[in-house]
Amino acid sequence: MKGKCLCGSVTIVAPSRRQVGGCHCDACRRWGGGPAFAIECGSDVEIHGREHVESYRSSDWAERGFCRRCGTHLYYRYLPRSTYAIPAGIFGDVEGLELSHQLFIDRKPPYYALANETATLSHDEAMSAIRKDRADAAAEPKQGDGPGAG
Ligand SMILES: [Zn+2]
Ligand SMILES: [Zn+2]
Repeated sequence: MKGKCLCGSVTIVAPSRRQVGGCHCDACRRWGGGPAFAIECGSDVEIHGREHVESYRSSDWAERGFCRRCGTHLYYRYLPRSTYAIPAGIFGDVEGLELSHQLFIDRKPPYYALANETATLSHDEAMSAIRKDRADAAAEPKQGDGPGAG
């Protein structure tokens, strides 16, 4: 899958995936102004125009990248496994994408609701998955997809 930022300075090539995850956590909503819709693309991601990418360390386990020229959100990188969750909106071809799950559902404010029927994870469920995965990653480093958030 190929994606690019609004101004075109940064392009991203990622393995094709169909599943989009929605995240209602405080950090995603503050960052983007609304829930995040991201695709877990693993670690095999090419980023071109890296000199235009700024990253912000949003938690102990993750950083968020954006284009410093146009502000487009480019990725959430889960540091223990160096895996990328990439906003679905930067990809041109959305054919076949489906919203498969929603994270931090209990952090969703009441002013919006998604009609899609998906699996959901609460704050506690998502945080315990992250804690477990960080421990696993520390025990056996490299590879795999990590959960989002943070
Ligand atoms: Zn840009
Ligand atoms: Zn989030």
